[in-house]
Amino acid sequence: MGYDVNRFVKCNDINIDLICNICRGVLEEGVWVPDCEHSFCRECINNWLSRRNVCPNDRQYLSLTQLKTIPRFMRNILDKLEIKCDFIGNGCPQVVTLESLRQHVSVCDFNPEKRVECMSGCGLIIKKADLESHNCVKALRQRVNNLIEDNMKCERTVSEVRHDLTSLRNDNKRINNLLDCLQKDVNRLLVDKQSSVSTECEGTSVPQTSLSTTSLSTAVKYNERNTRLVPNPYVLITPLHLLKL
Ligand SMILES: [Zn+2]
Ligand SMILES: [Zn+2]
Ligand SMILES: [Zn+2]
Ligand SMILES: [Zn+2]
Repeated sequence: MGYDVNRFVKCNDINIDLICNICRGVLEEGVWVPDCEHSFCRECINNWLSRRNVCPNDRQYLSLTQLKTIPRFMRNILDKLEIKCDFIGNGCPQVVTLESLRQHVSVCDFNPEKRVECMSGCGLIIKKADLESHNCVKALRQRVNNLIEDNMKCERTVSEVRHDLTSLRNDNKRINNLLDCLQKDVNRLLVDKQSSVSTECEGTSVPQTSLSTTSLSTAVKYNERNTRLVPNPYVLITPLHLLKL
C-alpha cells in the first residue's frame, strides 16, 4: 500500500511515474515491469496478480516473474521526497525524507508502540501507550508469574532430557550385551571351523595317497603295455622317472 500523496511536502511535484496506479499512493517497495515500464507497490501488484494476470495499466499479459525492483534513479528520487511522520495525527510535527521515515517512526515520541522504561520505580520496558494505565506492583507480579512459568517449562524440558538420556544409556547397555554375545558366537564359530578343517585334512590324506597309488599303478600298467608294443626305452616314462625329477 503506497504512501498518501498528501503526506508529502511538495505533493504537487511528485512525478506521475512514482505513483502506483492501483492504490494511487506514492510507491512503497516499488516494482516495475521492464516491458511496459509501469510501476506499482509490491503489495498492490501481488494482490492484483493473485486475481488476474494482466497489467493494471495496459491490460497486457503480466505474471509475477516479470516484476523487477524499480531502477536506482527512481529509488533515489523516492528516497529524497519529504514526508510528514506517520504520527502527525498524534502530534508529531516531524518532516523527514522517505528513506529515513522508518528509522524516525521507530523512535518517534508520538508512536504509541514505542517502548520506554518505566520511571516510577519498576524499571520495566513497556509500550508508551500503556504507560498511563501502568501499575508497577501489578506489572512486577505478572513478570514474576511469567518467570515462574518459564522456569517450570525449563524444568519439564530438563526432566524430559534426563529421561531420554536414561533410555539411551539402557539402549547402549543392551547393544553392548548384544555385541558381546555376537563376539562369543563368532569366536565359537571360528574354533569350530578350525577343528573341522584339521579333521578334514586328516581325512583327505588317505584318499590323496590312494589317489597317488592309483595313478601310479595306472601309469605302470600303461607303460607295461607300451613296452610290449614299442620297446623303445627313450619314449618310456615311468612314475619313477617323474619322482626323480
Ligand atoms: Zn500501491
Ligand atoms: Zn503495463
Ligand atoms: Zn514522528
Ligand atoms: Zn513501573
